[in-house]
Amino acid sequence: MKPKTATAVMMMLPAAPGTCVMCATAHDENSPHNYWSLFYGMRFKLKYGRDATHADCCAHMPEKSRPFYRQAVEEAGRKWTEPDSEPIAEPYAESQPFRKETPSETQD
Ligand SMILES: [Zn+2]
Repeated sequence: MKPKTATAVMMMLPAAPGTCVMCATAHDENSPHNYWSLFYGMRFKLKYGRDATHADCCAHMPEKSRPFYRQAVEEAGRKWTEPDSEPIAEPYAESQPFRKETPSETQD
């Protein structure tokens, strides 16, 4: 008898307004994405098919700033993680409040 398989579908709500659309955490564009954010980890894995690493979190930052992030991670007693391939740099963007379109905006 052939085993049954199931397909799961997962949808995520967008990040709360005023937070980063990548990690759902309030930070500025020159700071790393929140590696410990469940939102970041799940969104990243769904999009790229692998776990996010510390190197991915800071890949969008200026190159000269990244060693400071690595130092902070290691000083906190955490193991620095890197992907087998090039880190993926996802730029910071702030989530905007949801705004429903009015009928006049949907024409043309
Ligand atoms: Zn972020």
